Amino acid sequence: MSATLLDGKAFAAGIRAKVATHVAALVAQGLQPGLAVVLVGEDPASQVYVRNKGIATKEVGMNSYEHKLPADVSAEALYALIDKLNADPAVHGILVQFPVPPHLSEVEIVARIDPAKDVDGLSVINAGLLASGQRAMVSCTPLGCLMLLRDTLGDLSGLDAVVIGRSNLVGKPMAQLLLGESCTVTIAHSRTRNLAEVVRRADIVVAAVGRPRMVPGDWIKPGATLIDVGINRIPAPEKGEGKTRLVGDFDFDSAVQVAGAITPVPGGVGPLTIACLLANTVTACCRANGLAEPEGLTV
Ligand code: NDP
Repeated sequence: MSATLLDGKAFAAGIRAKVATHVAALVAQGLQPGLAVVLVGEDPASQVYVRNKGIATKEVGMNSYEHKLPADVSAEALYALIDKLNADPAVHGILVQFPVPPHLSEVEIVARIDPAKDVDGLSVINAGLLASGQRAMVSCTPLGCLMLLRDTLGDLSGLDAVVIGRSNLVGKPMAQLLLGESCTVTIAHSRTRNLAEVVRRADIVVAAVGRPRMVPGDWIKPGATLIDVGINRIPAPEKGEGKTRLVGDFDFDSAVQVAGAITPVPGGVGPLTIACLLANTVTACCRANGLAEPEGLTV
């Protein structure tokens, strides 16, 4: 048996197309959604992420506002900018690119952002709303994973789901979302005993750990759906000296033989994250203006 490959690129393109359609309808009403991205310092990887987010934002017809601050910016100056963006009606989503230099607190930065504009869904307000089953801004990666799972499996009610990883960014919101779908959810982490046994009973396994190929095929229940969030860079001598390649948290070659469906790495979950950032920005814009939420772009 060989699992169906879940094409994250194609699925993300579908989300972006839906976002673009909603944006066009909003623009026709004189309302253009806007996303502000704040970059502190000159970390090369962060510069690339911010540039890509800006391009993706403009591609779907939204306004993109980039704010670059020096690495030694004071917390007060950064908060003053966030306050300004919070008060700006043209800005519907605010994202501060992490990591920030060590003199700044990520927790405090997130807390400063208006929860209604927290399109990364990282604030304690949004985490609390999600946990209590209320309307929240949901962290982009788990939101994308849930959309993909719904698309693949339809009704998730009653399925056994195991989420490996309990971070605030991925694991916990993923588990909350699956609970919201009436799955029976287990959250595994580094202290979990008999992880193989835990994984073996799952119809859905979401791995968000960051350990290359740690979940082998013989842990997988035949036919299970596997969502691989992990992104791990490993040496790839077959590509030449010093070359590397990306792998996920599942051992793809053995898992693909047993699973019913699996997201590859790269090309699985990765593309969903920016697509859901755009989706969250449109959702935030609609909520801010008392309009109906875009269908299929939120939970
Ligand atoms: P964190 O490091 O914050 O969390 C990792 C989690 O894995 C922790 O809860 C940890 O448990 C758990 N863990 C570590 N070792 C084991 C183990 N041996 N067995 C079981 N659980 C273990 O990572 P993130 O959640 O931020 O990210 C996870 C992965 O997803 C990374 O590879 C990251 O790069 C990737 N990622 C990908 C995104 C995408 O767009 N595709 C977006 C975000 C992340 P404990 O809490 O006990 O320490």
